Amino acid sequence: MSDNTPVERLEQVQAGIARAASDYGRDPSSITLVAVSKTFPAEDIEPVLAAGQRVFGENYVQEAKAKWPGLRERYPDVELHLIGPLQSNKAREAVQLFDAIHTLDRPSLAEALAKEIAKQGKTPRLLVQVNTGEEPQKGGVMPADVDSFLEACRDRYGLTVEGLMCIPPSEDPPSPHFALLNMMAKKHGLKTLSIGMSADYDAAIQLGATHVRVGSAIFGTRPRAG
Ligand SMILES: *Cc1c(COP(=O)(O)O)cnc(C)c1O
Repeated sequence: MSDNTPVERLEQVQAGIARAASDYGRDPSSITLVAVSKTFPAEDIEPVLAAGQRVFGENYVQEAKAKWPGLRERYPDVELHLIGPLQSNKAREAVQLFDAIHTLDRPSLAEALAKEIAKQGKTPRLLVQVNTGEEPQKGGVMPADVDSFLEACRDRYGLTVEGLMCIPPSEDPPSPHFALLNMMAKKHGLKTLSIGMSADYDAAIQLGATHVRVGSAIFGTRPRAG
């Protein structure tokens, strides 16, 4: 598989998503592939854009700001998703740059985003990250706090949250985490579920993923950790 080009691997992932949709009785058009291009330079992303992929995920505001404006000039219909942790002092740039933010996870960030959304008149789609594994080093709202955080986003900050996102602990089987997130989304009538990465997008599709975030299965092993 690593002998193949990113475009060939993109096609394999697209076929894998279609197969999983068919296996689990999902409408394939309800599943969006977010191609995670973090750490890869623009020249590695360009062929994937040329092959028709339009939705991309990045983890770092500064990196995305350096790479994407140029690519966007050539591909104006690109949709850019922030999937990495966001510092409140980068909220302005994040609202400018991203069409969706998957990592809203604390009141200070909700406040900063609400301010920028009002100022810029531009509203990225917002997902709340849930720390389903309750890992201290990981971002995300603790499961017990999800109800009150969603309520604060709506009532206190006037934000529309569209869905939930999680990154299961690497040592756990992912499915129980995906199932928990699916249950929470249903409880709150949220339609978007950002779950599943290269190793587990099949299980994520079985458990209701609307967005799978796939990096290394398309672009290969990342040049540095991230
Ligand atoms: C890097 C990253 C991915 C992609 O991971 P792969 O295993 O390379 O597919 C997905 N989601 C998040 C939040 C990431 O940071």
